[in-house]
Amino acid sequence: MLRITCPYCGVRDQAEFRCGGPSHIARPSFEVSDRVWTDYLFNRDNPKGIHYERWLHEFGCGRWFNLARDTVTHQVHAVYRMGESKPTLDGGAS
Ligand SMILES: [Zn+2]
Repeated sequence: MLRITCPYCGVRDQAEFRCGGPSHIARPSFEVSDRVWTDYLFNRDNPKGIHYERWLHEFGCGRWFNLARDTVTHQVHAVYRMGESKPTLDGGAS
């Protein structure tokens, strides 16, 4: 089981959290093509290595935050609040 550090509550078991998918996904403007909209809505990267994700502390403070996790080892490399810049990590995908 992962131990995740909520930026508001501290270290907790993974069972208290829910993953909300990749973070830092930019919504395109309405003037883009159907292909761009389809890509935005349905296609996501599946990197081997560092992956930036949104997590909800569902059974804790109820707040969302971002997390950088290695998809191979599940090691958490960074936890940061919504609105903060994405940290630069070695071996990371964007
Ligand atoms: Zn929390």
